[in-house]
Amino acid sequence: MSTKLEKYETMDREEIRQIQLERLQVTVNRAYRNVAFYRNLMDKHGIVPEDITSLDDLSRIPFTTREDLLKNQPYGMFAIPLREVVRLHSSSGTTREPIVVGYSRNDIEHWTELMTRVLYTAGVDRDDIVQIAFDYGLFTGALGFHYGAERIGATVIPCSRLNANKQIVVMRNYRSTVLVCTPTFALHIANVLKNEGISPAELSLKIGLFGSEPWSEVIRKEIEEGLHINALDNYGLSEIMGPGVSVECYEKNGLHIFEDHFIPEVIDPKTGESLPDGEKGELVLTTITKEAFPMIRYRTGDYTSLDHSTCPCGRTLVRMSRVSERTDDMIVVQGINVYPSQIEQILTEIEGAEPHYRLRVDRNGALDELEVWVEVSSHIFFDEVKKMSAIEEQIQKRIEETFGLSIKVRLVEPGSIKKWKENSV
Ligand SMILES: [Zn+2]
Repeated sequence: MSTKLEKYETMDREEIRQIQLERLQVTVNRAYRNVAFYRNLMDKHGIVPEDITSLDDLSRIPFTTREDLLKNQPYGMFAIPLREVVRLHSSSGTTREPIVVGYSRNDIEHWTELMTRVLYTAGVDRDDIVQIAFDYGLFTGALGFHYGAERIGATVIPCSRLNANKQIVVMRNYRSTVLVCTPTFALHIANVLKNEGISPAELSLKIGLFGSEPWSEVIRKEIEEGLHINALDNYGLSEIMGPGVSVECYEKNGLHIFEDHFIPEVIDPKTGESLPDGEKGELVLTTITKEAFPMIRYRTGDYTSLDHSTCPCGRTLVRMSRVSERTDDMIVVQGINVYPSQIEQILTEIEGAEPHYRLRVDRNGALDELEVWVEVSSHIFFDEVKKMSAIEEQIQKRIEETFGLSIKVRLVEPGSIKKWKENSV
């Protein structure tokens, strides 16, 4: 198993800080010159790029929030002309308005390089067969991993939009050794294997790289036992780049942040004060190599803490604790954490259900009740009553299996959720 340590992963703190400062200065300069939002923000606070003479000066620049990005959609935050942008992606926008992000050719190159580092950290090499079960599309997960895995010479199977049974067929027939998807989906695949009476020993899987939603150690254990693999967490977000911001090493004790590309801070979300190592708060990230979409002190909404102590794996890069919750998004029903991304994943696997939905929690009775409104394809909505109740049942069953929650499902006409969202903004 290869766990090649890149030069940038074992530098001493001083070296890391020096590289960060040089790259930060370039980034602030670029943002100030090319992005009206940053120029106005810095002018308003009396800061010019030359004021950034140490890493501590970064804290003089105010935070960038999701609302700032929304106000400047679609291209207001871009620091290069559109003709130099070679790719667009967007943040997952089923429950919230998506944010469009762009990449220059160099950005794609850096991203690919970072994804090779994610994969190497997990022990993936050119002999591996990597099954990518993320959704290929505007979402960054699939293409991020795809480029990285191809770059290291692994064999890539782009495998989106197949249900768990079909994923298992691919996995078994083509002898996939690595599975890349959300932890919810991996757990579902493990459950289907068990229900179908297929032993994980019949598969060739050995590594799982899971991310894009928070998951717990309990879920990790279930996935590892159910699929006979080592399951590792990775973290990223489209506003910053996509996957490739940080990844767990085999110590499974925090995710190493690629500090030669990102500067992390953890703050108290109420006061904005910076928090010391070990204290949990909101993760704030600054990109220091991005050309098309530089982000300075972006509030991610994810809760974590930092750890600068030495990791037995040999990497000197700071570790962030696994993200277990967000400052928004998550809802708690009957004491169970429910993430919209998990519901979304379930819906994409059910034929006839569209990934447009609305979650409603009724807290009036003795027990909270979750109601999911889901759009269905028009031919089903208007013609097939039987199919409607079958879909309803499937959604109920899958959500019950995943969360242990019984819920109400209400199928609605195509387009109605979008209308509801527009009216409720
Ligand atoms: Zn480590």
